[in-house]
Amino acid sequence: SDHMLEYPTSPDEMDWSSYYPDYAEEGSPEADAKPPRLRKDVEIVDIGCGFGGLLVALAPILPDTLILGLEIRTQVTQFVQERIRALRSQNSGNLYQNLGCIRANAMKFLPNFFKKGQLSKIFICFPDPHFKARKHKARIVSTTLNSEYAYALRPGGIVYTITDVEALHEWMVQHLDAHPAFERVSKEDEEADACVKVMMDETEEGKKVTRNKGQKFVALFRRLEDPPW
Ligand code: SAM
Repeated sequence: SDHMLEYPTSPDEMDWSSYYPDYAEEGSPEADAKPPRLRKDVEIVDIGCGFGGLLVALAPILPDTLILGLEIRTQVTQFVQERIRALRSQNSGNLYQNLGCIRANAMKFLPNFFKKGQLSKIFICFPDPHFKARKHKARIVSTTLNSEYAYALRPGGIVYTITDVEALHEWMVQHLDAHPAFERVSKEDEEADACVKVMMDETEEGKKVTRNKGQKFVALFRRLEDPPW
């Protein structure tokens, strides 16, 4: 349930400074009553990040890019926030300063957090399958949500999906394929993308599937340019 969720009325109202303190601009927020700005915007989002394995693995690979986990479960979110704090204190320099995690329902408030074209990558790793037909509307990939992903992603940006449930893989491919803002990334480009390996091996759910010798189905979709009309 998300009746206790806090979310900004618009991206400009979101105060990211406590999540990425090293990136906060100096200055006097009192002057204009707006939250402190960051020197950079969040660019990568992990939807339903769980315990944060993907975030932690991506941080050193993309050290200058702000990466955010969205997670709906309060305790899991707190766990990830603790994990980030610990990693920062165990490591010197700016390592892991580019990670953040917020509690949010990704199905509801994405445009409140992100401006149009703000993101370069969205990860959807091992989402809950919601097997029964009457539960399909709870799936994190759908026609409506794909439009929100398309809004938040810049042209050329990528949606990464992975699941061990073949029927869910087919569902995600079908819905993203059908969306005019996306095209499937070729297997060749997929294999050349370093983030794919991280997504295969570093999420907690992905490790579980490996231990159980399960299959993993991957699909990437590229955000197209908006048509000129
Ligand atoms: N991505 C992680 C991984 O691969 O290890 C976790 C996968 S887990 C099966 C799915 C996660 O999505 C859970 O942690 C769940 O709480 C979260 N989740 C489900 N619906 C969500 C929503 N609407 N918004 C944000 N997170 C959600």
